[in-house]
Amino acid sequence: MGKGAKVRGSKGPRVEAPKVRAAACEDTSEAAPRTASLVTASLAPLRGQAVLTGEQLDSFVSNRAGQAGWSAKLMTTPRRFAAAFLLCGAIVVAASARQQTPAEQPPAGEPVPASQTAPRSPRNANYEIDARLDDDAKSIKGRETIRWRNITDQSTSELQLHLYWNAWRDQESTWLRERRMAGLFRPPPADAWSSMDVTALRLRDSSGDMRDATKEMRFIAPDDGNARDTTVMSVPLGRSVAPNQEVEIELEWTARIPRPFARTGWVGDYYFIAQWFPKLGVLESQGWNTHQFHAATEFYSDFGVYDVRLTLPRRFVVGASGQQTARTDNADGTTTHRYQGEDIHDFAWTASPSFVDLSKRFESPTLPPVVIRLLLQSERRGQADRYFAIISATLQRYGEWFGAYPYPNLTVVDPAFQSDSDGMEYPTLVTGRSRWLTPDSSQTPEGTTAHEVGHQWWYGIVATNEFEHAWMDEGINTYATARVLEEAKNPNRVESRYFGGFIPWSFRDIPFTRVDNDRLAGYRLNAESDAPWTPTFQYWPSTAAIISYNKTALWLHTLEQRLGWPTMQKILSIYFERWKFKHPKPADFFDVVREVTGQGHYWFFDEVYRSSNTFDYGVQEFRSERLDDKTFTTTVVVRRYGEATFPVGVVTTFDDGQHVKETWNGQERRAVYVYQRSAKGATVQVDPGHVLLLDVAYTNNSRTLSPRGQQASLKWSLKWMVWLQDLMLTYGFFV
Ligand SMILES: [Zn+2]
Repeated sequence: MGKGAKVRGSKGPRVEAPKVRAAACEDTSEAAPRTASLVTASLAPLRGQAVLTGEQLDSFVSNRAGQAGWSAKLMTTPRRFAAAFLLCGAIVVAASARQQTPAEQPPAGEPVPASQTAPRSPRNANYEIDARLDDDAKSIKGRETIRWRNITDQSTSELQLHLYWNAWRDQESTWLRERRMAGLFRPPPADAWSSMDVTALRLRDSSGDMRDATKEMRFIAPDDGNARDTTVMSVPLGRSVAPNQEVEIELEWTARIPRPFARTGWVGDYYFIAQWFPKLGVLESQGWNTHQFHAATEFYSDFGVYDVRLTLPRRFVVGASGQQTARTDNADGTTTHRYQGEDIHDFAWTASPSFVDLSKRFESPTLPPVVIRLLLQSERRGQADRYFAIISATLQRYGEWFGAYPYPNLTVVDPAFQSDSDGMEYPTLVTGRSRWLTPDSSQTPEGTTAHEVGHQWWYGIVATNEFEHAWMDEGINTYATARVLEEAKNPNRVESRYFGGFIPWSFRDIPFTRVDNDRLAGYRLNAESDAPWTPTFQYWPSTAAIISYNKTALWLHTLEQRLGWPTMQKILSIYFERWKFKHPKPADFFDVVREVTGQGHYWFFDEVYRSSNTFDYGVQEFRSERLDDKTFTTTVVVRRYGEATFPVGVVTTFDDGQHVKETWNGQERRAVYVYQRSAKGATVQVDPGHVLLLDVAYTNNSRTLSPRGQQASLKWSLKWMVWLQDLMLTYGFFV
């Protein structure tokens, strides 16, 4: 796709992409909404009402169609700070005034079951959860029924469950030990700690009765034997559960909500609640795969149906995985929100009284519609259009490239300042990342939002084991996100932030490119840190993301430069179709590459996946000497400085404008080329097209014999900028 795929410029003309059409719901800049689907509607007036089903949402949006032109008009983001500052204030005031508009009252409703769809996943880990938030005590009391089916070919006599919040119970958990070891630990405030205590556990036995098994559960530490780690619990079943047999278990638990750790917790009256209930590990043919909570890795679980009731004070606006199917006001001043989700493998939720609650319908000629709900911080209300545009662009492009988003709705949360809940993915619910001031050319909020929405494909639907193979979701997704941003986000400029990140500065002359979004700068700093085939939870914690995200995105992009995007798109779409609602392993991905290209590419995967070697090709010698009146001898020595090998081109140009291109297989330590020509040698370049994006030192790739003072000063200026960019990206990679 070319640059013509620009979706929305703040001032310039809109340009239709030749193949990937911008989704209809991005057209908010057009004068009049053509249909209800083009509308951004404030749902804030619905607070306190009873039911908010997808259908009612649609009809509400439809009714509000005539009133919604304001939204688009408010979203012109100024280019300069002063104007941004003044206009943001005006936007907040104007938007707040709009939000007061009284809404029509949808009828109160009884709990409505979610639409039953044909199962797309095995649905073998099903949860009914009833939980109550104590806002004063910052705690949750919950009760859940899990119905689990053994979908392996082996019997088991136990269940294993994650109790993730025990990672922040004290400093001796594996999560915190690893953070300390990697120098990432800062002592938290006294009220930061959390806990998750299972207070009752009952099993349905073979006679059909529930049996109390509270005293039988015990903690295990399968990864490191840390007796102080209580993030994994084993429950003996007292019987053997054969393939296809089911188990029913009831748990009651209490949990203290952390101050934010790992994107979970509370700040002020904002809650982001994830990994918050006792959750099953995954039984595989080799046994239970239930890793402890580690500092550098995420999660892994089976698909199922979630039916969750959340009770909390009425003033809260709630967002959650799945669809809201009921909302019941209770006599004690609380409200119970019921959410149901099918074919998902996790459930997260958020609550705050001050969300600006917006919705929009994504529609496309080629893809099924999706209701997008955006829960915004009020100070960032002016960014609503930017959020909706990038969410729609990601749904459109990922949908057309890999396969359609299969759920009817998607909730995107703009997290509270300092909530540490930015940039995280859960099934049908993600968090973006933004700041109050953000120029049009900034990657905020687009970069993180595209990435997290993209995780619906690579994590949510193709559900890899993130403890062991994080590259399969983070890396593939980083690669694909960069492609979306290149097409859908414009302008893109390098940005720096000052005063704690509060004040942005955009470098107008330095574009932020797709390779920047592949995170090349961060990769160079720690390229050898771990070999990707190592189970991710064993990566060094402070550099794990560089291997999972950056290195993978760069080698996928390098592969694209060799194979072409149509082939890469075919590989990823076949891989998606084959492995959606399943748990692929690395070999499954490599198999698809071999199948589509007819070649194993083992030489390449040996380097980029099975080794931590780095690539570095450069010019060692370049000289051109007069041999006689008519001839110069030009000598080129190119060298493989790194251990990893890759075929590269070597182009030498001469003073008469002629050039010679060689193809070097890159295997030996050096290659020497000697030319006897009538013109003197001028320049030499290794890998002039920059096909090998993993080259860790690109500055040694060229040499010139002509004095080029001006170019040299430019090159050094750019090197300084690259340093600055490296620094920025180093702080920005953990999403
Ligand atoms: Zn990610």
